[in-house]
Amino acid sequence: MRIGEIIAKLEQWAPPYLQESYDNSGLIVGNPSWETSGVLVALDCLESVVDEAIAKKVNLIVAHHPIVFSGLKRFNGRSYIERVVMKAIKHDIAIYAIHTNLDNVLWGVNAKIMELLGIEEFKILQPMKNTLLKFQVYVPEADATKVAEAVYAAGGGKVSAYEECSFTTSGIGTFKPTEGTNPTIGAIGVRESVAEVKMEFMVPAFAKFAVESAARTAHPYEEMAHEWISVENLATEFGAGAYGILDQSIDFEAFLKQVKKAFGTTIKYTAPAGKTVQKVAVCGGSGSFLLGAAMSAGADVFITADYKYHQFFDAEGKISILDVGHFESEQFTINLIADFIEKNFPKFAVLKTEVNTNPIQYY
Ligand SMILES: [Zn+2]
Repeated sequence: MRIGEIIAKLEQWAPPYLQESYDNSGLIVGNPSWETSGVLVALDCLESVVDEAIAKKVNLIVAHHPIVFSGLKRFNGRSYIERVVMKAIKHDIAIYAIHTNLDNVLWGVNAKIMELLGIEEFKILQPMKNTLLKFQVYVPEADATKVAEAVYAAGGGKVSAYEECSFTTSGIGTFKPTEGTNPTIGAIGVRESVAEVKMEFMVPAFAKFAVESAARTAHPYEEMAHEWISVENLATEFGAGAYGILDQSIDFEAFLKQVKKAFGTTIKYTAPAGKTVQKVAVCGGSGSFLLGAAMSAGADVFITADYKYHQFFDAEGKISILDVGHFESEQFTINLIADFIEKNFPKFAVLKTEVNTNPIQYY
């Protein structure tokens, strides 16, 4: 098994296109052509995790947080980041990060938190902009199905949970082949009229290249007439945070107890807006930027991490902020990633780190 095969599957699941601009998700150390016999999954790739990979004889670490965020200029081992990179290179260990791209998919980090809370149906709290495009292509009637199937197979034609969505109108396409062309229909210098259809599909922006090249392969013409159009629609599957509704409203204190048990942590929280909780907003990791979205969604509580003293005042008694700790909020991401790899590569060794990488201790 090559590292690149595992990465390709991970990137279908959490497309790198969806990572935030400050992020550095992707293959940080290593080469996709390397053979690998096993993978070690962790939240953070620390030196102790690289040591664990060496000891357990696996040469790929998949971590949620990238070990490198910005440029490294020296490699003399003064910082822990340099030491991790140096050790990984020295021992041929690949490091792959799947960070905000896994935060920004409906089935990612926050899905795991929702599962923990027993909420099965939930939505993206702040849908991402510029994640969708419209693809219009002109095809001779007889080839319409073939082209549509190529578009679907390449990831086009999805509208939220619906697949194979398209819209077709019939018309007449005209063209005149000039010197140097090799037309499928018609002759050089003669204007041609052909019964064609215009097919329209919504396409995630990250699938643009794949969809266009699949359509070109399926299309019978030498030149495929088509347009890419910007749309303002927000994808329902991509974006930050999530919100959903508990089956039954629950007393605020009982909810706190449930969250404390589920995350195994102490909770910092602000006064509840009401006596009970039913609508819950969540964001694994640092989510304070989503408080407005959580309030707009009408959430009773917002479970996240990394809140600062003054930011807690922003709740203004309208919502209760529950800060459960960064590591604690994302700890189950290890299972999420490991389960995904195991499901897709059943014969492959997938290990979960035994190192507790949380830098914060509680007294
Ligand atoms: Zn995080």
